[in-house]
Amino acid sequence: MRFETLAVHAAAEMDAATGAVTPPIHLSTTFHHAPDGAPVSDFSYTRRGNPTQSQLEAALAAVEGGEAALVFGAGVAAGAAALQSLESGSHVLFHKDIYYTFKTMAEEFMPRWGLSATFADLSDGKAARAALRPTTRLVWAESPTNPMMEILDLAAIARMAHDAGARFLVDGTFASPALQRPLMLGADVVLHSMTKYLGGHSDVQSGALVFAKRGDLYDRAAHTRHVLGPVASPFSSWLILRGLRTLPCRMERHSANAQAIALAIEKHPRVASVLYPGLPSHPRHDVAARQMKAFGGMMSIRVKGGRAAAVGVASKVKLFLNATSLGAVESLIEHRIALEGPDSTTPEDLLRLSVGLEHPDDLIDDLTQALA
Ligand SMILES: *Cc1c(COP(=O)(O)O)cnc(C)c1O
Repeated sequence: MRFETLAVHAAAEMDAATGAVTPPIHLSTTFHHAPDGAPVSDFSYTRRGNPTQSQLEAALAAVEGGEAALVFGAGVAAGAAALQSLESGSHVLFHKDIYYTFKTMAEEFMPRWGLSATFADLSDGKAARAALRPTTRLVWAESPTNPMMEILDLAAIARMAHDAGARFLVDGTFASPALQRPLMLGADVVLHSMTKYLGGHSDVQSGALVFAKRGDLYDRAAHTRHVLGPVASPFSSWLILRGLRTLPCRMERHSANAQAIALAIEKHPRVASVLYPGLPSHPRHDVAARQMKAFGGMMSIRVKGGRAAAVGVASKVKLFLNATSLGAVESLIEHRIALEGPDSTTPEDLLRLSVGLEHPDDLIDDLTQALA
């Protein structure tokens, strides 16, 4: 089945009790069991799992081509559970450009959890291999990265991780499963902040881990979620299921709009560079073209004139909204370093754009007048 069809029909069985075409939201926190405690269904208590959540998990596993999924209350909770599932003493090798809260988690929380972390440039095979240790259990990367829009060769990193006896986790938030399926490239786990494209409307916070195999990684993460409690609520799960149905359609438009904007402003005299994997000028455009179906709705622009010039552009836009987050219908702009804080290594002249579903010409007009 093709992806567009799968997105509409994955785990979309009609409700057996009522014939309802769209799924009910199961709010019950507890589920009937036999007097001797024996289960009578797949469910017992909602922290362990509930039917709306399970339906979303089945749908996510299907669209990613995995065997199982777990959904969480946030993308960061999904990442924390992946890390907390490791034995203490484990080492995790991260790509140098990752979502900034995961950087905080690595530096501040992993030592408390008895884990160690290293950052390396995983686009450089030699540097990456040199950073591996005998205790490396997990290699962690994003592609495209946030906010530098770097592209990593996911299949190559998967081979390197597996040769070292480690697992490979990909944060697939920027591409979404509609544009890139890391499990098909050899990754063991895909992480999503479903707050972004999967939800798609800036109105729900949720995260997921999708597993190639229903094996030890899945079992440990499920146990971690059950004991520590960062589950997705039934209502969040329901909203994400709803978002998933239109994901391929939205990603097509996000990608087309972003490509049009990137081409229109790349040569603008006040633009130093446009970081977008769909541009032939992107240093790893070929890798992106190989592993992505389209190039997505995220891009960064470096403005000539440094911090003041970048903030100046962000203050002159009329259609783009100054707000953080990404992946929804409305276009957003953000002076990223201002949000990431003083430890950030993001360039001061960088604006991150989340290109929405408006008409591309209106978005180009808006940026052009703001750059003028
Ligand atoms: C937003 C984001 C996260 C964190 O997700 P939350 O739902 O905000 O917890 C993780 N990775 C990437 C790439 C993100 O953009």
